[in-house]
Amino acid sequence: MAGVKSADRCPGLLRPHPAEDGALIRLRFPGGQTTADTLSALSGLARTYGNPELQLTSRAGLQLRGLPDRLPPELTEAILALGLITSARHERVRNIIASPLTGISGGMADLRGLVHDLDRAILDEPSLADLPGRFLFVLDDGRGDVAGRAFDLGYRALDGVNGVLLVGGGELGFPVPVREAVDALVQLARDFAVARRASGAWHVRELRGWTATVEGLGPTDGRAADPPQQPLGEVAGAASVAVPLGLLTPQQVGVVTRVAAGPLVITPWRGLVLPGGAAGLSALTASGLVATADSPWAHISACVGAPYCGQASGSTRALAVELVQRGDVDRRTHLSGCERRCGAPVDDHRDVLVAHGAVR
Ligand code: SF4
Repeated sequence: MAGVKSADRCPGLLRPHPAEDGALIRLRFPGGQTTADTLSALSGLARTYGNPELQLTSRAGLQLRGLPDRLPPELTEAILALGLITSARHERVRNIIASPLTGISGGMADLRGLVHDLDRAILDEPSLADLPGRFLFVLDDGRGDVAGRAFDLGYRALDGVNGVLLVGGGELGFPVPVREAVDALVQLARDFAVARRASGAWHVRELRGWTATVEGLGPTDGRAADPPQQPLGEVAGAASVAVPLGLLTPQQVGVVTRVAAGPLVITPWRGLVLPGGAAGLSALTASGLVATADSPWAHISACVGAPYCGQASGSTRALAVELVQRGDVDRRTHLSGCERRCGAPVDDHRDVLVAHGAVR
């Protein structure tokens, strides 16, 4: 059994994190699903109150940072007015990643409705407010792009009717029809919320004793042997772009909202999918967004590093720019300012630790 953990410090709007560069707030978007209007409104608020860039997260969310230590009430109210937080108690547990292209192109099923239903069910279940902020649900539409990540509970579609419920990762699960998936996920999450009380465990994989009690659980191949990469460029009429270092500037948001007026998807790879936006690809790339896999920016990521994080021993972003400029990104690369390696990809990559301007 895991030892008793320290406090859960995952940030949210209602619990900002005091970073070196000011307060940081993290906003969740189940399945990465949002709209151009919401993105535009958040970009305007970021520009008004703090660092003007929106920071994309590896859970398909957004962070605003460099905000006043005491959040201005008008900022909090403006974000609440966007309808992003419908339950204060559940704010930090609505962590749902889904295949970003589901319902747009490929996959075995359109899981956008399932994302909505699972989010609704989480909000409706008071006991799930006790889940840790690190707990993660994954909904994979069968293509295997997100079921290979580290997660707690998940569902991988086999077709539009049937799928596999995944427990503690992609290796253990049991068959569940899609119409029962939400109930099954919520029931297991509720059981985990009770089982973790003694230890404060953050993840299902830490409670192997509890996992062993899950009825019908057995080995499964929920994790794809060779997970597909997010395609960039035109995808079934949509524009799929990577956001260099996950930092979305106000100018880029302006272009995005001109190209796609309606729904859009934030990807767990710090990119955006704009349904129907393929005609705007040249404008998107002119703004610095990336639409081809041969760009080094499609293959490099970095934690926020110095001077934004007190743990950092060096400027990860500056070194990332340097590596790109000197053509030194020949494979997936992640730069970290300390051993915690925040945001590092789960798949094979070049791991760079930055210490006082040097690479370790
Ligand atoms: S990896 Fe270290 S330096 Fe980078 S953001 Fe995380 S804690 Fe900060």
